[in-house]
Amino acid sequence: MTDIPTNEPVLSVRDLHVDFSTRRGALKAIDGISFDIAPGEVLGVVGESGAGKSVTGSAVVGLIEPPGHISGGEIRLAGRRIDNLGAEEMRRVRGKEIGMIFQDPLTSLNPLYRIGDQLTETIRTHLPLSARAARARAIDLLADVGIPAPEQRIDSYPHEFSGGMRQRVVIALALAAEPKLVVADEPTTALDVSVQAQIIALIKKLCAERGTAVMLVTHDMGVIAETADQVAVMYAGRIVEKGPVADIIGRPMHPYARGLMSAIPSLVSDADRLVQIPGSMPRLASLPDGCAFHPRCDRCFDICTTLRPEPEPRGARRVACHLYTHEEMAS
Ligand code: SF4
Repeated sequence: MTDIPTNEPVLSVRDLHVDFSTRRGALKAIDGISFDIAPGEVLGVVGESGAGKSVTGSAVVGLIEPPGHISGGEIRLAGRRIDNLGAEEMRRVRGKEIGMIFQDPLTSLNPLYRIGDQLTETIRTHLPLSARAARARAIDLLADVGIPAPEQRIDSYPHEFSGGMRQRVVIALALAAEPKLVVADEPTTALDVSVQAQIIALIKKLCAERGTAVMLVTHDMGVIAETADQVAVMYAGRIVEKGPVADIIGRPMHPYARGLMSAIPSLVSDADRLVQIPGSMPRLASLPDGCAFHPRCDRCFDICTTLRPEPEPRGARRVACHLYTHEEMAS
C-alpha cells in the first residue's frame, strides 16, 4: 500500500513543455500542460493521434525519444521532482515507483524468459525478498490478475499465453513492486474486443485496491467513460478541457470535447448518427494562430483566429475556449 497522505497528489505536472528539435527550430509537442492525479484516482488522457497524449505519458516515465526533450515545467511524484533525474535514477523510479503498461504486451515481456523469471527479477530488484518469497509473491500477483493455475503457468513463456493473458501478465509486472503510479498507454488497443473490457476493469480494480494512481492514455472515449475519474482532453499539445468524467461525458463544454463525445457509440441514441469531427489534427510545424482547433470548429468566431484561449476554471473543470470567456462576442 502507498504511504502517501491522501491530500497530496501522487503525480503533479506543472506547466510541462516538450519540444522536438528540428533543423527548422523547436516544435512544441507539449505546450504548457498541468494536472494532478490523487492516490487511487484514474486520470484519462484522451485525444486523437498527434494530440500529445502519448508524449505526455513518455515525459512522465522519462522515456521521451530524442530529438524530443522536456524544455520547461516540472513533474513531481509524491512531492519529489523527477523530470530532472539522471537516466540511472529514473530507471529505478520506473521499476519501483511507476509501473508501465503499453499497447503491445510483447514490448514489456522478454520472449526468451519464463514469465516467472521476469516477475521475480523485477520483484527482487525493487523489494528485499528472498528468491522463494519473490516466487510466492509472483504467484500471488498472477492469481490477482486472473491467470488460472498460476503455480503452473508461472513457468510458461510469453508465447504460450493469449494476447489478453499476456496483458494480464504485464499488469502483474507493472504492479510487482507496489508502484505509486501506473502509466497505461493504449493498454487494450492491440487486444481482441472481447477481452478489452476485462483488462480495463482489472487495471481499475487492482489500482483502486492498492491506492495506485493511474494515468490512462487512450484515443478511445468509451474506455475513458468506463474507467476514468477525471478526464484531460488534449488537442495540439495542450489540455483543452479537464474535469470529472461524469461532467465531461454528460456535458462537454469545449467544441473538440463535444466532437469526441459524439463519437462514443453507447452515448449516441438511435436517432443520432456517430459524428466524425471534420478535418484533422494540425501538424506541429504548422499550428494555426489563435485557437489551434479553430479551422475545425463550428463555433469559431473573430477572436479565435488570433488569440489563444487559456484554461479557465468553470465549476469543477477547466476549459480553454473563448466561448466561455468572450460570451458576448460569441453570441
Ligand atoms: Fe472553437 Fe473558438 Fe473555442 Fe477554439 S476558442 S474551440 S475556435 S469557439
